[in-house]
Amino acid sequence: MSNATITVLPGDGVGPEVTSQALQVLRAVEDLYGHTFTVHRGLVGLDAIEEQGVAISDATFETCAHSDAILFGAVGGLPAAAKRAGGPRPEQALFRLRKEFGFFANLRPVRPVEAMYEASPLKPEYLKGTDMIFVRELSAGLYYGHLDSVPGKPSEIRHNGQEAEAVDTLLYTEQEIERVVRAAFEIAAGRRRKVTSVDKANVLSSSVLWREVVERVARDHPTVAWEHMLVDACAMQLIRDPADFDVVVTENLFGDILTDEASMLTGSIGMLPSASLGVRRTEAGMFGLYEPIHGSAPDIVGQDKANPIGAVLSAALLLRHSLGLTREAAAVEEAVEDVLREGYRTVDIHEGGCTVVGTSEMGQRIRHKL
Ligand code: ATP
Ligand code: MG
Repeated sequence: MSNATITVLPGDGVGPEVTSQALQVLRAVEDLYGHTFTVHRGLVGLDAIEEQGVAISDATFETCAHSDAILFGAVGGLPAAAKRAGGPRPEQALFRLRKEFGFFANLRPVRPVEAMYEASPLKPEYLKGTDMIFVRELSAGLYYGHLDSVPGKPSEIRHNGQEAEAVDTLLYTEQEIERVVRAAFEIAAGRRRKVTSVDKANVLSSSVLWREVVERVARDHPTVAWEHMLVDACAMQLIRDPADFDVVVTENLFGDILTDEASMLTGSIGMLPSASLGVRRTEAGMFGLYEPIHGSAPDIVGQDKANPIGAVLSAALLLRHSLGLTREAAAVEEAVEDVLREGYRTVDIHEGGCTVVGTSEMGQRIRHKL
């Protein structure tokens, strides 16, 4: 019996709409399996900026720190206060959480549901058997120079001569590479035992070091098959033979781009969940932050149109990775597949012959199946 504490941060745009469905699924799991989940709510993003002047307050941060897991919606949009340069931005909430909790691995499973192959731009015969998980490095690389520009790691636009110039630094330490690569090999050991490490070693020094580390870590996992793949080749291979991948591990920028590409295999960005994990352990797993990969989707907010499946599947990842509730996680994933198999779709994944339902009805049908 699990006795867990979960902090829910619904955030902006469609965040609250999809998070509400995910939370109700967690409540159903609680009832069905006799667990006790203590849930705290916190403000992040625009509302936090309006009410507290920062994208996430210290108090909310503390609440997260005392939880087993964070269920996150989305942040985004332009706060009134941010219109002046240098004002707080909603995205800072997520960066602070990632940075201060040391979330260095971002897990993104991509598993198109057979009943929904038609929603993908690829032919069904190409999708058959596709079941991969990306492990994206989340704490370093090009994106981090921008956040905390430090000497020797510049990220700036310089206006010192006739012509402006700009620089970003792609820096990885051995330790930053090793911890995420180890996580990928460990995940592969519990799956189909194959790691594809993606880099650009023909032109980037950081990728040459990346390869060295991968080869070293691989020696500790003799039962896991592995390969290096250049990122451009990987972009192609994801479309040509997606079923060939099991675990894909890569650095921050490459992972950002490749996972958006891979999301289309499932038909919509609204389908994909993610887990961000670091080093802190909980009683039964890892402390983590769980969120759908989509953003605040301002164009469909308040219309009961958002697909809640990415958020619901994120809740399943929370059950599995932070609470150690494997059986419950699988039950949620199966409930989602059942509802899709019965032909219910939100508008983003709608096709002929299916029944279009709204955000809340989709959530309710998933709970009913559960
Ligand atoms: P943000 O800056 O917060 O990322 P965005 O404008 O980039 O916001 P996204 O959330 O990334 O918006 O969405 C990109 C597109 O995908 C939008 O057209 C949006 O409506 C659609 N979309 C995103 N999430 C969902 C969802 N859960 N269900 C349906 N459509 C979605
Ligand atoms: Mg976006």
